[in-house]
Amino acid sequence: MKSRQAHTAPDPRNLVPHSETIPDRGIFPAARERISAFMKIHEYQAKAILAKYGVPVPRGEVANTLPEAVEAARTLLANGATGIVVKAQIHAGGRGKGGGVKVARNLTDAETAAKNILGMQLVTHQTGPAGQKVQRLLIEETATIDRELYLGIVLDRAVGKYVFMASQAGGMEIEEVAAKDPNAIVREVIDPAIGLAAYQGRKLAFALGLKPTQVNPAVAFFQSLYKAFVESDASLLEINPFITTKDDKLFALDAKMTFDDNALFRHPEVKALRDVAEEDPLEVEASKYSLNYIKLDGSIACMVNGAGLAMATMDIIQYAGGSPANFLDVGGGATQEQIEHAFEILLSDKNVKAIFINIFGGILRVDRLATGVVAAARKLSVTIPIVLRLEGTNVEEGRKILQESGLNFQVGATMKEAADLVVAAAKAGA
Ligand code: GDP
Ligand code: MN
Repeated sequence: MKSRQAHTAPDPRNLVPHSETIPDRGIFPAARERISAFMKIHEYQAKAILAKYGVPVPRGEVANTLPEAVEAARTLLANGATGIVVKAQIHAGGRGKGGGVKVARNLTDAETAAKNILGMQLVTHQTGPAGQKVQRLLIEETATIDRELYLGIVLDRAVGKYVFMASQAGGMEIEEVAAKDPNAIVREVIDPAIGLAAYQGRKLAFALGLKPTQVNPAVAFFQSLYKAFVESDASLLEINPFITTKDDKLFALDAKMTFDDNALFRHPEVKALRDVAEEDPLEVEASKYSLNYIKLDGSIACMVNGAGLAMATMDIIQYAGGSPANFLDVGGGATQEQIEHAFEILLSDKNVKAIFINIFGGILRVDRLATGVVAAARKLSVTIPIVLRLEGTNVEEGRKILQESGLNFQVGATMKEAADLVVAAAKAGA
């Protein structure tokens, strides 16, 4: 009996949410990355958190207007700054290449740079072609850079632990470094009971080629980073670049930090840093109705219950030759009102050419869903094709409600058939 129990004890890896257990090499990595619920913050906010933990960051101040920016630059210059760097604050990286980071030698140049960057539509490889409007600046003193290095703390799902990553190739996209020369990145797996041990910090420092006098400060730097990461329930921390200066100091010159949404309840101070102006308006709207919605670039809108099924739905659309317009989990107990709001959100995406409703009725009864869909389709006068795949509790009643509605729904017998139907419908409508 005892050994039997041991064999049937749940594997802890199976207890994490669905979206976390899907292998990284799926066909929809971008969506998979985004569906893990992380809250982003700005660089200036991340630096403020890090500074509290003793991580050295350049002196600087956030500015929401041009006069504020000029005032911040004037104050820094009056207090020993040898130059000013003006940095666009948006929730995306690659700002430097996109023209969102400018170094100025004096107040006049700083003002010109701030004038140019504030309000600009900044396009980087992470913003998409439309770019993101710059509403805030970080005004910082310049650092005299000797070397630009890379530091990151990420969760390694295969190992089930946090991993410190370091590379001498700082200032570049780490994905690029990983693809070209994976050996240029060193990793230290962190034992959660111990944290980043001093010997691990020294290993990282040596791998980065730091000078002997820089090693101890670097170890302290790494340990402060790790402490900030763990205590704030961060999900990612990236310092790119982590710099050494000509006078042998170390600084976090950039800081990217995201947080685990599921832990925000115990960090009201982090939750308060949310900037909805940086988020997709449709995603903000969806979150008001407790709909788990993530906008994507395709033409087939998805309405699904359950995160795992939503992932499978996006994959099968892709297999059928189509492209999903969104991830949407309406949850187990979707109300008619939620379904209506879900429709509104799906339909406000102008790329959408067809809607795929894929429901497995468990807690959510299929007949109730069908009633909600018919009501919403009538109320919103939906004209684009809707394909459904329905299974589960009260599925016959649900199908009947759709048939008798007189509206133009197509129902697929299987997930694959429904996916083929919706891809064909989207192509016909394009
Ligand atoms: P990102 O492009 O969004 O990652 O923004 P970063 O904060 O990483 O800045 C981009 C680049 O600007 C850095 O890699 C540096 O080369 C440069 N930069 C940022 N701050 C300074 C500074 O104080 N002095 C100098 N010389 N360059 C800087
Ligand atoms: Mn950077």
